[in-house]
Amino acid sequence: MTDRRQVLQAIAALGSVGLPLPGRAWGAPPALPDDPFRLGVASGYPTADSVVLWTRLAPQPLAPQGGMPPSRYAVHWEVATDAAMTHTVAHGTTSADPTWAHSVHVRVQGLQPQCDYWYRFTAAGHRSPAARTRTLPAQGAQVAALNLAVACCQNYEQGHYAAYRHIAADAPDLVLHLGDYIYEYGINPNALRQHNSAEIHTLDEYRARYALYKTDTSLQAAHAASPWMATWDDHEVANDYAGLTSPDHEDPAVFLARRTAAYRAYFEHMPLPPECAPRGHRMSIATQALCGDLASLCLLDQRQFRSHHPDTMLGAAQERWLTQRLQATRSRWTFLAQGTVVSHLLERRDGELRYGSDNWNAYPAARQRLIDTLQQSRVTNPVVLTGDVHAFIVGQVTVTPERPESTMVAAEFVATSISSGARPQRLMDEWQRDNANLRYCAGEKRGYLRLALRPDRLQVDLVALDDARDPQSGRYVLKSCIVEAGRPDIQIA
Ligand code: FE
Ligand code: CA
Repeated sequence: MTDRRQVLQAIAALGSVGLPLPGRAWGAPPALPDDPFRLGVASGYPTADSVVLWTRLAPQPLAPQGGMPPSRYAVHWEVATDAAMTHTVAHGTTSADPTWAHSVHVRVQGLQPQCDYWYRFTAAGHRSPAARTRTLPAQGAQVAALNLAVACCQNYEQGHYAAYRHIAADAPDLVLHLGDYIYEYGINPNALRQHNSAEIHTLDEYRARYALYKTDTSLQAAHAASPWMATWDDHEVANDYAGLTSPDHEDPAVFLARRTAAYRAYFEHMPLPPECAPRGHRMSIATQALCGDLASLCLLDQRQFRSHHPDTMLGAAQERWLTQRLQATRSRWTFLAQGTVVSHLLERRDGELRYGSDNWNAYPAARQRLIDTLQQSRVTNPVVLTGDVHAFIVGQVTVTPERPESTMVAAEFVATSISSGARPQRLMDEWQRDNANLRYCAGEKRGYLRLALRPDRLQVDLVALDDARDPQSGRYVLKSCIVEAGRPDIQIA
């Protein structure tokens, strides 16, 4: 028997054809008294001719099942070339199913490259606001410029999301989220604003946590302004987990059930392509985006396949895939976007200089293979984009960290957190003193990275907030970094 979900996905994949769904399965779902679009709308994973549209029906975001009856709902979607939605170029109907938390993931095909589009949804007599998205340049096309924002680490309790208001105002071509979209922790009664439950473990708890985060209107604005691509780090499941191993020594079967629930909720709440829906306990999120001749971007999953013992970060299959992608790609700039620091980073522990246990330095063989691959695959202008540490770091990935100027393999830019807790600046100064390859470290700023890419140079602005405790906070450029094409060096001003 064919899996009904596959049928629905196949229908959704038809995109602009918009076939009506089989009538009998629908019945007449109960009316929804409240606006079901309270979690906003989103788009993601653009290609030159398509983009994924997302929403989740949840009229009461924090209530069980988001306040939805256990029925399937028809959701109509439209894509237009104008914000007023008058020039519709594609439309169709898909389903929001209670087994997937009434989430919707539609890949709309047949769009034009490097164009703005607007989209909206209609369900049960309610209509969402229109949101903007954008396709990527055509393969091989000459591209003059590309603008990106890089965000990560948005602990709801520890700050407001003013950074997202500014990302929305920038309206970049693409937003990259590098993990810690939610935190699994319980409630801190002294926090700026509170989580909605004790530490989360079950599917319903992960769903309610995403719903809480997604009620934030600044986060919704950033999703409504640009398409996103995302990878997870640890807190989408549990702090510092590696593959199937929980750092809290949870029973492996119990932890696997928790991870499976967490991955499913991640799929349900991100604008991921329908084919990324988890199968069993696995979910495939590593992907590559090509931006004309200007850039290729590999988004890596460095949690799911990470080994407990220090031999692999990505798992053998993902490593092979990455090597193949890097060897096959001839873009001018090559971005690797992922969660944890790749640059050599010695930290002082008990008076000794050691590697941390949760970044690439704890996996020296895997890290060396990554450096070898970057060197041997002839990629040009490699740039690593990273999250996790709640600090801005500008680093040089090097063969010999003591001689960064002559052995640099890639530039690395670490985005600070949107809202998650600070790192003391004296620790950051210590990191910089102890690691000649770290060029700049700032631990007490919240914000994001703003990238302006041109064929001849990459500009990375470290955009900092005045005060992440203020939802209306202003922003300023803390540092502006330049990488010139063909020159393994970073200028910081
Ligand atoms: Fe974090
Ligand atoms: Ca993390």
